[in-house]
Amino acid sequence: MILRGDQLAGVTMDADGLKAAGSSVGTAGLIVMDETTDLIRVITRITAFYHHESCGQCTPCREGTGWMHKILNRFVAGQGTMADVDLLLDIANNIEGNTICALGDAAAWPVQSMIRRFRDEFERRAVAPAAAPQPAAAEA
Ligand code: SF4
Repeated sequence: MILRGDQLAGVTMDADGLKAAGSSVGTAGLIVMDETTDLIRVITRITAFYHHESCGQCTPCREGTGWMHKILNRFVAGQGTMADVDLLLDIANNIEGNTICALGDAAAWPVQSMIRRFRDEFERRAVAPAAAPQPAAAEA
């Protein structure tokens, strides 16, 4: 689960501390990104991974990861819309809890979390796509 920098002050890097901050220890992997990071490209890359890894057994995961990936690629290409932000969240919410293995939830949570923490970035990119930190080709 993604946290903003201003939510990290005083947080201990253990299960209880991260849970209290609204995240989780997960597999104990931690990625720290500074303000130069293009968060749209980050979440697109994460989603590309889950789209690729989906085995296709469950419809919400099989279709949903692909739809999220497609929409996020639109943002990377500077073609995302304000409606796409809510659509992305809706797709992620419909994947969560509706699949037979944990990959579905694992695909939904980063998207939900990124929109929850950085909705302003999605909206900024939708309104002014030219303001993206760097020109970017769509993630494969
Ligand atoms: S949730 Fe698991 S079982 Fe279902 S399609 Fe995704 S990877 Fe396959």
